[in-house]
Amino acid sequence: MTPTLPTSEREAGLSDRLAASPAGGRRYAVKAIWRTVQGEGAQAGRPAVFVRLAGCNLWSGYDRDRQRDAARHGNACALWCDTDFAPPGAVKLSAGDLAAQAAAVAGGVRFCVLTGGEPLLQADAELIEALHDQGFWVAVETNGTQRLADAFGDGPAPDWVVCSPKLPVEQLPIEACDELKLVVPDYRPGAYAALAARARQRPDGSRYLWLQPEDGPRLAEATRLALDLCFEDPRWRVSVQTHKALGVD
Ligand code: SF4
Repeated sequence: MTPTLPTSEREAGLSDRLAASPAGGRRYAVKAIWRTVQGEGAQAGRPAVFVRLAGCNLWSGYDRDRQRDAARHGNACALWCDTDFAPPGAVKLSAGDLAAQAAAVAGGVRFCVLTGGEPLLQADAELIEALHDQGFWVAVETNGTQRLADAFGDGPAPDWVVCSPKLPVEQLPIEACDELKLVVPDYRPGAYAALAARARQRPDGSRYLWLQPEDGPRLAEATRLALDLCFEDPRWRVSVQTHKALGVD
C-alpha cells in the first residue's frame, strides 16, 4: 500500500492555510512547505521539510512560455519541467515567519531543503540564519546559474548545496557545490571531468556525482545512458529517485 502523508504535510494549498507576513521588510514568495523524505542523492531517505520558493530564471512556469523560454535560454528543461513554481498561489513570508512555518510543519525533523524553481533568486543570509535559529541544517537545490557569494555574501550560507545544471558549464557561475546531479539524456556537458571539478572533494577524495535518468517516456533510454556513462567514468553514480519508489511527494 502506498503511504500517504496527511494533507497538511503535502505540497498543495499553502495559500489556503497561511496568511502573508506584513509588508515592509524582506519577504520571500513561498509556493509550498511540506514534510517528506529527501528522495535523491547523498541525503536520500533522510526526513526533511521542503520549502519551494517561487520563480525560476529558466522558465516562467506557464505552459504558454515553454517554447519561448527554451529557445531564449538554450535549455530544454523548460519543455519538460513539471514543477509548479509559478508565482500565483505563492505566499509572501518574512524570514522569521517562513522558518517558523517550516518548523511547525517539520515536527521533530531538522533538515530543511530549499528548492524551486531556482531558490537562489530569493534565498539569502537572512533566511538561512532564520532557519538555523530554528535548528535546521539547510540544503539548497540550485540550477547553478547564481553565485553563492552573490546570494549569501559573508553571511550564513546553506550547509549543503546540490547543483543540477541545465545550461552549459561556461554559463554556470556557481563556485562549488556538495553534489552534482545531471538529468540524462537531457543534460550532456561537453566535458564531464570539467564539470565534476565543481563538486567539492570529500575527505576521502571522492565527490558526489550523480546521473539521474529522466523520468517519463524516455526512462529506459535514460537509464541505459546513465549506466553507460557510469561504467565509462565510475566516479559518477546512477541516482535513484527513492521518494517515487516510496510513493511520497
Ligand atoms: S531550472 Fe529547474 S525548476 Fe527551472 S525550469 Fe529548469 S527544471 Fe524547472
